[in-house]
Amino acid sequence: MNRNHKTIRRAKARAAAKAAREKAQALDAGQRLAAWAKSLPEIPIGDAFTPGKVTHVCFSHDDHCRTLQTGNGADCNCSPDISYHRDSE
Ligand SMILES: [Zn+2]
Repeated sequence: MNRNHKTIRRAKARAAAKAAREKAQALDAGQRLAAWAKSLPEIPIGDAFTPGKVTHVCFSHDDHCRTLQTGNGADCNCSPDISYHRDSE
């Protein structure tokens, strides 16, 4: 293998490592946001869509759910528990 091939392989490995790092950081940020939202007062679904109010909707997926691997809610293949939380007023 010549030097160009090694250089390309190393660049691809660095790019893959960077992508994996960014994905992990994004998941960590999502987990921190979910923990914060769940710490807010929970409200019933009937109060979740009050005009002028901010509601945080939390989906708790099953361990096997594809969303937990991809970070994309559209990939959900479970029946998540859903809770609604309101910022303190
Ligand atoms: Zn799910």
